[in-house]
Amino acid sequence: MIRISNIKLPLDHSQEALDEQVLSCLQISPEQVVKTTVFRRGIDARNKKAIFLMYTLDVETRLDEELLAKFDRDPNIRKTPDMAYKYVARASEDLKERPVVVGFGPCGIFIGLILAEMGYKPIILDRGKAVRERTKDTFGFWRKKQLNTESNVQYGEGGAGTFSDGKLSTQIKDKKHYSRKVLNEFVDAGAPEEILYVSKPHIGTFKLVSMVEKMRAKIIELGGEIRFGARVDDLHLEQGQVTGLTLADGTQIKSRHIAFAIGHSARDTFRMLHDKGVYIEAKPFSVGFRVEHRQSLIDKAYYGEFAGHPTLGAADYKLVHHCSNGRSVYSFCMCPGGTVVAATSEENRVVTNGMSQYSRNEMNANSAIVVGIDPSDYPGHPLAGIDFQRELESAAFKLGGETYDAPAQLVGDFLQGKPSESLGEVEPSYKPGIKLTDLSGVLPEYCIEAIREALPAFNRKIKGFAMDEATLTGVETRTSSPICIKRDDSLQSLNTRGLFPAGEGAGYAGGIMSAAIDGIKVAEAMALAINEAK
Ligand code: FAD
Repeated sequence: MIRISNIKLPLDHSQEALDEQVLSCLQISPEQVVKTTVFRRGIDARNKKAIFLMYTLDVETRLDEELLAKFDRDPNIRKTPDMAYKYVARASEDLKERPVVVGFGPCGIFIGLILAEMGYKPIILDRGKAVRERTKDTFGFWRKKQLNTESNVQYGEGGAGTFSDGKLSTQIKDKKHYSRKVLNEFVDAGAPEEILYVSKPHIGTFKLVSMVEKMRAKIIELGGEIRFGARVDDLHLEQGQVTGLTLADGTQIKSRHIAFAIGHSARDTFRMLHDKGVYIEAKPFSVGFRVEHRQSLIDKAYYGEFAGHPTLGAADYKLVHHCSNGRSVYSFCMCPGGTVVAATSEENRVVTNGMSQYSRNEMNANSAIVVGIDPSDYPGHPLAGIDFQRELESAAFKLGGETYDAPAQLVGDFLQGKPSESLGEVEPSYKPGIKLTDLSGVLPEYCIEAIREALPAFNRKIKGFAMDEATLTGVETRTSSPICIKRDDSLQSLNTRGLFPAGEGAGYAGGIMSAAIDGIKVAEAMALAINEAK
């Protein structure tokens, strides 16, 4: 197969135009083409008056070898690399002990799936409920303010990314093409096929829910077992080696190979692991607010007169500003045409996050505008970042009126340092509701100062970004894990054999794709360790 890159076509081009490009690039006739597949489709919107689609195509021809030799000096024509996933091990027929995976978010799903595919029959435990019941609890909280601390946006089947925008981009290096395995599995489970080729794929909440169920069924069919309502409360250790664990209901499970893919919000489990002596370090993360604008403002800024074009969809953005006080402020988890959601897993706290449906056709665009902080801002203890997060989340709960409403403020008022009293054209979408106030007391002064400097700077990149009537809600604290459970080259904890820290909670991922990819790596490491221990 031949990969042709950098094919540029106008937004409304025909299929014939694409086919024509293949023929002219390779200087062949239509009869010599067996099949053409789009490998990647990006958007070049640098010139808003002439927006182009940029293609990378995989073409199977009757003359592959000949053409590759002919164009060997052309950087845009290359042999298509082999991106198929290769299993690193196979369980023996007399598998004595099943590996255990704690957490069934994207990371735990892929640890479980890959182990099951290799024959290791993993036992997977999640503290939350199966996804349909979890959906009722989560939407119930947004509607009725009744929080279930074990079944919510953070906890339950599918993990933190289930009620999300389902963005699937990642910037991690991926020499082994693990991301292709992840995307193929998602498509098999019902994700739209376009995620395989669009440059910024996303899935949206409702599709994610049914995909998670299908992936669960596949793991079970392959010999895995999944238990919900199974919170791990204790770890068994013998001379620095994991030997098993205890669940909240007292059930004990023996295993010498246990992955912890518990996400960034399992604060009680972080504490338990730390108390058990597992080596943990504090790590940097970010805090801030969610900002909302009309999506049409963002579309116009990026696509000009092409705003609203169906191929382009709702525009997204990525912004960063380095402030004079040394802090960096950046946009995070931008959700085009989405809503802001209540994302706490603990009582009497307010945490914001964002989600959307596949269609991304809600009125507002939202993103977190966050300030980077590091352990020097919360010194003293590996878990001090958690106390720092809790303090901000409790302050937001108080400022919101102690009802789970989020405190909110208009951008204009925030910049002028005065409380907001009435809304303008941007209706905040946060459920269950908002309380207009002054947000400046809810984050440390250096964060407020940094965000006040960054918003006008962002306005220079997106006209209207700092408009008076844009809204801020807060607080955004669960941007990534405040800790890192350090691991060595075998992906085991630095000081606890058989414990495989994994995914976002352990500090090795940030987002659905990187968590899933880390899951594949950890499954491979577990399989190799199990085979070695025999
Ligand atoms: P998680 O998904 O957090 O999964 C951890 C699992 O472990 C949970 O199911 C939890 O119930 C379970 N668990 C915790 N403690 C225990 C215990 N003691 N015993 C048993 N089980 C336990 N990322 C993107 O890339 N794109 C997006 O669009 C996006 N949007 C998001 C929107 C929202 C509202 C949220 C909250 C997050 C979003 N993210 C997004 C981030 C993404 O969801 C996470 O990066 C990803 O889910 C991390 O995967 P994980 O498997 O490491 O952990």
